Formats: sequence, C-alpha cells, structure tokens
Amino acid sequence: MNIATIKKFDIANGPGVRVSIFVSGCRHACKNCFNKEAWDFNYGFKFTPQVKEDIFESLNKSYIAGLSLLGGEPFEPENQKGLVPFLEEFKKKFPNKNVWCYTGYTFEKDLLNKSDNTEKNYKSRAFCKFTPKMLEFIDVLVDGEFVEDLKNIRLKFRGSENQRIIDVKQSLAQNETVLVKEYI
Ligand code: SF4
Repeated sequence: MNIATIKKFDIANGPGVRVSIFVSGCRHACKNCFNKEAWDFNYGFKFTPQVKEDIFESLNKSYIAGLSLLGGEPFEPENQKGLVPFLEEFKKKFPNKNVWCYTGYTFEKDLLNKSDNTEKNYKSRAFCKFTPKMLEFIDVLVDGEFVEDLKNIRLKFRGSENQRIIDVKQSLAQNETVLVKEYI
C-alpha cells in the first residue's frame, strides 16, 4: 500500500483534531476530483513499518481525537488489505480514539455482504475478504462519490449532498443504515 499524504493536525475531516491518512489508488474517476494524482496506486510513498510507527507517534497525543482515512480510496481491495492490520493495531493502542473513513463506494450496495442482495447482476468491485473486518474498525463512514452538481460548501465534513455520514457500529448492530444525527 502507498500513502499519498499524511496530515498530523487535521480539523477538516472529522470532529476535533485528527491524524489523517490519504492512501493512494482510486478507481472512481469522479468529475473534478480534488486529488487526481492519488488515483495511481503507486503514487506517494510506501507504507513501511517506519511510516506506521511515525503515524502512531502522531496519534499518541492527548489532543488528537482520532484517525481519518481518505484517498484515493481506502476501500479499494488493495488498500483494505494494507489497512486492516494497521487498524487492528491502532484499536489496541488507542481504544478511546475513533476512526472516520471517507469512501466513494456506497455502504449498503458496495460494502455489505451481498448474499441477500436483490440486484442480482450487481457485483461490487470493493467487497472482498477484508471488508467485514475493515467495517468493524470504523466508527463513522462518509460514503458516496463526490458529485460536482450536488456540491454544497455549507455541509460539514462532506463535499456533496449525496454523501452520508454513517454511524457504522449502530448500522451493523441494527442491520439498517443509521446516520450520525448531529450531521444530518
Ligand atoms: S473517490 Fe475521491 S479520490 Fe477517488 S476520484 Fe472521487 S473524489 Fe477523487
């Protein structure tokens, strides 16, 4: 896995002060993407053990509320493979810090298990063996592609009206999509 950028003091991508990781690689090709160079899975630098330790050190501050994952696309299968063991370690080290993740995929359609899906011919290119575990580690998911025509600069923590801020833990527990009330 490659990383495009790390922000160690980010207040734009989730509540409080956060460490944000922008992974490389994205297949959505949204019109007017804000981060086109990160479509390439080889863009940026390798996620080495040293980079990981550096991120953990940045997170180990009392004023850091949590970790945000952006891209590129954290839910491309290649990136899920890199992120799941990292998130597992993160949760053990920092059980009181939360994880926000931004994805261009749609929660129900692309990221949940498809065994009971009624759209018979639909196959998500994101869903893989790592997806259920990855969702378990995420507290809040901001889902959906950025749509230029639905852009609204007044929205908090998202760029366009179609994107949703989902409480993943509640959604998985209740088996239906639960939005975070304060950001609806
Ligand atoms: S999902 Fe994000 S990085 Fe990927 S094309 Fe869309 S705006 Fe760009």
